Amino acid sequence: MKTILIFGITVITSNPLLAESTRQLESHEHGVGQLEVAIEGQKIAIDLHAPGADIVGFEYVAESSKDRKAVDTAITILGKPLDLFLISSDAKCSVMQAAAKLESDDEHDEHDEHDEHDEHDEHDEHDEHQEKSAHTEFHASYILNCMNIAAMTEIKFAYFDLFPNAKELEVQMISDVGAFTFEIEREEPTLDLIGKL
Ligand SMILES: [Zn+2]
Repeated sequence: MKTILIFGITVITSNPLLAESTRQLESHEHGVGQLEVAIEGQKIAIDLHAPGADIVGFEYVAESSKDRKAVDTAITILGKPLDLFLISSDAKCSVMQAAAKLESDDEHDEHDEHDEHDEHDEHDEHDEHQEKSAHTEFHASYILNCMNIAAMTEIKFAYFDLFPNAKELEVQMISDVGAFTFEIEREEPTLDLIGKL
């Protein structure tokens, strides 16, 4: 497992604003990432899970220097939430915490059941040297503080420009006024927040 903590702050394992995620790697669909957003007062906690296929275009273990560089570059990009999720500067948001890492399902024994029965044709390119379950995901967590959060009327997802293989983000959002779900697609990468904060 490759772990890089941006700013040296560990936030991956404990994010008080977000409920414990019960997702599992084998459930992911290539092209589709998950974004959890919790807004409380002027704080925004964001949790992103995206298939390795979406972020770097592969899910095997990076061994060549080219692949390792791709992973490192992706983690660097994922460490800059305000470049991924564009918010009006009027909202005066700053990044309090940001962390990104690559997770593979080698570390999750409970996923071993999806081995030979895995019928995902799109994974055929993964060579024989790989573990039987070769899914990976990038996981990033952020906490933003927005001094004037009322000015945050929308979020534009530059994420799709930065990661050409990503097609969709399934967004679950909790704010002071309720819970919402959205499907943000590459073709229309904007989340309208009017009336939802
Ligand atoms: Zn996968």
